[in-house]
Amino acid sequence: MKILIAEDDNITRRRLEKFLTDMDFEVVLCRNGLDAWKIIQSENPPNLLILDWMIPGMDGLEICRKVRKLTRDPYTFIMLLTSKDTQDDFVKGMAAGADDYITKPFNHNELRARLKVGKRIVELNKELLSVRDNFEKQATIDNLTDLYNRHYMVDILEKEFARALRYQTDLSCLLLDLDCFKNVNDTFGHAFGDFVLREFSAELKQNARKTDISIRYGGEEFMVLLPNTGVAEAQKVAEKIRATCEKKMYDDGHNSTTVTVSIGIASVKQHQLVEGKEIIACADKALYRSKAEGRNRVTVYIKKPSRISEVNKISEDKNLGHLKEGLSAILEKTKKSSIESLELLTRDICGEDHKQHNHDVKRYIKLIGEKLALPPTIIETFQRAANFHDNFKVLLKKTLKAKDKVLNKEERIEIEDHPYMLSELIDLFDFFANEKSILQYHHENFNGTGYPDGLKENEIPLGARIFAMADAITAMLSGRLYKAKLSPEEMVVELADKAGTQFDPTLVSLFFDIIERQELFSVPVEVLEQTREKVGEKK
Ligand code: GH3
Ligand code: MG
Ligand code: MG
Ligand code: MG
Repeated sequence: MKILIAEDDNITRRRLEKFLTDMDFEVVLCRNGLDAWKIIQSENPPNLLILDWMIPGMDGLEICRKVRKLTRDPYTFIMLLTSKDTQDDFVKGMAAGADDYITKPFNHNELRARLKVGKRIVELNKELLSVRDNFEKQATIDNLTDLYNRHYMVDILEKEFARALRYQTDLSCLLLDLDCFKNVNDTFGHAFGDFVLREFSAELKQNARKTDISIRYGGEEFMVLLPNTGVAEAQKVAEKIRATCEKKMYDDGHNSTTVTVSIGIASVKQHQLVEGKEIIACADKALYRSKAEGRNRVTVYIKKPSRISEVNKISEDKNLGHLKEGLSAILEKTKKSSIESLELLTRDICGEDHKQHNHDVKRYIKLIGEKLALPPTIIETFQRAANFHDNFKVLLKKTLKAKDKVLNKEERIEIEDHPYMLSELIDLFDFFANEKSILQYHHENFNGTGYPDGLKENEIPLGARIFAMADAITAMLSGRLYKAKLSPEEMVVELADKAGTQFDPTLVSLFFDIIERQELFSVPVEVLEQTREKVGEKK
């Protein structure tokens, strides 16, 4: 243990030096109060001080007072050494902060006994400090991985979130979950599972920047908070973690295996978050998507536009109202010209009485509709129905004439005006019914994890499945949203990867056939072969 002797009297100082060295202390000497104060403030200061009261520069009492104002660990034990031996002096010395007091000339045995007490106090204090450190560490650090624990996460997340809002900086959160980790435990045992968790954590810590905060969130779940980091940068970090993990061989000398990790990302600015816990919820949803889409991937949270309240909010929007009106006007024109074309078709076979009949029906519809205060567009719809009815009837009559012989007159009249017949014909004018279902369901996933209705497999209209894949292929090759542009080869691998989860595997392999036969892209044959095999297993 290091001890300082601050004594200006040469003989006393030398005697003390010899005595203390014999007691196995590491002795530091000085003969001036100012030098003593400097040594006390140095990097690795002595824990025990023997201070002469009367010493030039700064006297022993003042040094005592200054030391007691320092806030640092461990405790500094101070013994005053002086020829002042009244009770008043003693009280003064202890009041200044000294722990002990010995008068010159001192007795060796007494000094030794008193110094032992000092040493014991410093050692006890060191022990206490190490218990406190351990306790604090346990409250914030995870035992197995040495990363921060979930308890600490709650604290730090609130702090970082508040900071991001206050200074208008960004904050991103990665949630990581090791894939199929249960298999690792089941195959190699829990101890090896622990080994993998430790290795993965070490890698995570090693690759993190100084400001990043790596946390063990749960069993095989982790969180990395990235202060001052936007979504694009967070994505790069996550991708690096994912790729590093994928490549690593976890080997403890007995067992070895590879492990992959799925990651979800949310960012304060990108997702306009206003509360700390929101960032976890969003990252968790993104993580869920990474899992659902085949694991070993990074997903940035996307606010689902299909959430009913949001869709309603958008529907109420004035601008959308204008857009709808504009599109309806186009539709009105289309309807009008459809009926005109139909009338053209019946022009030559309609008699005057037919035209008069149609005209009168429409007039009565209008009169009644207006009396009921129906909107003009509704009245027009009713009138158009009359147009269809009368024109279809004429056409049916003409068609059925050819079969005159088989049908008697009553039968013929019934069929000419039969509701099923008419509705079958009007169905032909319901131009966009099928297109509607494609628009409605093009975000469904083959495995049922999509939206808005979570349909799966054949429940999803074929057109929607084809459209979703064609749209994705185009997006991959051109690079859209935040995703990087893929080469045709990468696109093929991605399609194969998501076959069975996002895409219909049958359609994926169909598309691979097209690529091969028509040499659509320059994708090496072996890549096609491998990916086709992969898709084949999923079908
Ligand atoms: P998924 O890809 O869907 O995440 O599959 P998974 O098997 O990783 O997920 P699941 O949540 O079903 O299982 C997590 C497993 O992680 C369960 C448990 O055996 C293992 N695990 C959790 N904590 C520890 C741990 O401290 N040590 C070890 N060895 N295994 C753990
Ligand atoms: Mg002196
Ligand atoms: Mg898990
Ligand atoms: Mg897991």
